[in-house]
Amino acid sequence: MAFYVTTPIYYVNGEPHLGHAYSTIAADILARHHRQRGEDVFFLTGTDEFGEPVAQQAEREGVTPRELGDRLAPRFKEMAKKVNASNDFFIRTTDEGHQKRVQEVVQRVHDNGHVYEGTYEGWYCPRCADFKTESEIEDGNRCPIHRIELTREKQDNWFFRLSAFQEPLERLYAERPEFVQPDFRRNEALAFIRQGLHDVSLSRPTLKWGVPVPWDPDQVIYVWFDALLNYYTALSYAREGKDLTEAFWPATHILAKDILKFHAIYWPAFLMAAGIEVPKRVFIHGYLLMEGHKMSKSLGNVLDPDDVIAKFGADALRYYCFREVSFGQDGQISPQGFEARYESELANEYGNLANRTLSMIGRYRDGVVPEADAEPELAGGFDGAAEGFTALLDEAELTQALEHVWKLVRRLNQYVEETAPWKLAKDDGAAGRLDSVLYGLAEGLRVVTMMLHAYMPDATARLLDALDEESRGLDGFGSRGGGQRVGELAPLFPKLS
Ligand SMILES: [Zn+2]
Repeated sequence: MAFYVTTPIYYVNGEPHLGHAYSTIAADILARHHRQRGEDVFFLTGTDEFGEPVAQQAEREGVTPRELGDRLAPRFKEMAKKVNASNDFFIRTTDEGHQKRVQEVVQRVHDNGHVYEGTYEGWYCPRCADFKTESEIEDGNRCPIHRIELTREKQDNWFFRLSAFQEPLERLYAERPEFVQPDFRRNEALAFIRQGLHDVSLSRPTLKWGVPVPWDPDQVIYVWFDALLNYYTALSYAREGKDLTEAFWPATHILAKDILKFHAIYWPAFLMAAGIEVPKRVFIHGYLLMEGHKMSKSLGNVLDPDDVIAKFGADALRYYCFREVSFGQDGQISPQGFEARYESELANEYGNLANRTLSMIGRYRDGVVPEADAEPELAGGFDGAAEGFTALLDEAELTQALEHVWKLVRRLNQYVEETAPWKLAKDDGAAGRLDSVLYGLAEGLRVVTMMLHAYMPDATARLLDALDEESRGLDGFGSRGGGQRVGELAPLFPKLS
């Protein structure tokens, strides 16, 4: 099995922020999870460096667009590293391998008869680098995303016959209702398709910053087509002397709602025009909002990802983003909310469960997990747990999958209270039951930690090491017997001082 997941490529006209980190972490959780399932995974992220907005930003700063990209691309690379993203490649659209492949695909679309020359006049948002249709324009002639005033623009350029793909797209959406998720985003895209698709510019006049149109070098390829193609081109040159396209295409895309139209409509149409298979899935997420929140004691009034990572580690940030806001929806986050969940869930519920379990095995069984059967009342709660978890992640239900695991974490804590191993330890007649309880706790902790590994790779690796578990493969409760020697474990999530 192969699994190919992508983040959007990030535009280099500004610094990385939490929104970028959010998409990257989401894709990383899926990539790590699929690796745990033993699949061949390729995880791509990178930067989008062409187009007018970059050229304009460079001009404002008095540098060339190339220099701006060379300064900002490493910032996005660092961001991926800081959030512990396990990407297999970092694409820059200025890469020669990308440009060459873009030209090949665009030429194919041209040769297949889906490109013509014409003049376009319409309302244009320079920040989106996109013309807006009448129904998208907000009051006061403004971009619905950037709220800036649109400009009237007229261009002689090459057009992509998007209108010819209205029916094929409707068919795609009918045959594969899971293609775009969540459903309300799918419906949004479908409504846009059904209102009638207009042809779109495939190129921009020269002197703009971009990849030259192969049959007309006076024009450059419109930045959106060049950018979307990164998902496809990267596979052709990411590994020297090896083309991974066959092995990994089609992709699963993760992206934010503001670029829905490009990914759910333009992109599959363009691929069809080139005779390339459309993506496997397109998962759209919402925004993390920070409005009207209260100050927190250690983070001040803004949830700054760098600050959170420096003080609490990447794991805690990764956990919080997907725990607090249901993936797919918009939702509020706050420094105060972060600290509350850090203390009550990560430090108290999960961290304490880990330390308690290990220390009880140390104290009552000389540090060796008993070889025993777990009590049915605990084991039963884990029936089908791993299968349920993977089914949720197959649908990119990142928040529901986390909730699914957290219920088990809470169940384990409750089981500690119910069985009170410290009382069993004082009763010589209860030695057999204590074995079962301690084995069940160690096994339950191992199973939840394996599932959480994709979300919090560092803390879980430390805990799995302490449990003497070398594998990272997801398996069911009871699939590992006892007999392991447990190690020491410093608190996974130290309490705030
Ligand atoms: Zn805009």
